[in-house]
Amino acid sequence: MTDCLFCRMVAGEIPADVVHETELTLAFRDINPQAPTHVLVIPKDHHATAGLLVGAEPQLLAEVVAAAHAVAVQEGLATEQAPEPGYRLVFNSGPQAGQTVHHVHCHVLGGRDLGWPPG
Ligand code: AMP
Ligand code: ZN
Repeated sequence: MTDCLFCRMVAGEIPADVVHETELTLAFRDINPQAPTHVLVIPKDHHATAGLLVGAEPQLLAEVVAAAHAVAVQEGLATEQAPEPGYRLVFNSGPQAGQTVHHVHCHVLGGRDLGWPPG
């Protein structure tokens, strides 16, 4: 048993609207979407932040980013070669960035004009 929400989603104990899956990653729609496309991509193994993941398993972080791009292609936000119409990848890390789930996740956001700078 774990009290990590995203580990429990990987284990199938909590439902997830899965849109993409590899042996090592899972991607599912955010429950509180901030854009027409708002998908979270996670490594199936537990790491708290992107910094801890890249320190422990840099190749797995690359797989998370590759899966995020595959989701963007699947959602019509990009092609294999070009980023049009475009999308944004966000890793919130730590309290000032607003990280609320302490299992690293990459937000894939798109489908509308995204403001800059972010809030
Ligand atoms: P962050 O603030 O970067 O830690 O993002 C955590 C994200 O997880 C938020 O955008 C939440 O809406 C999302 N979230 C929380 N619970 C669930 C859930 N059960 N299924 C899908 N997304 C969730
Ligand atoms: Zn976890």
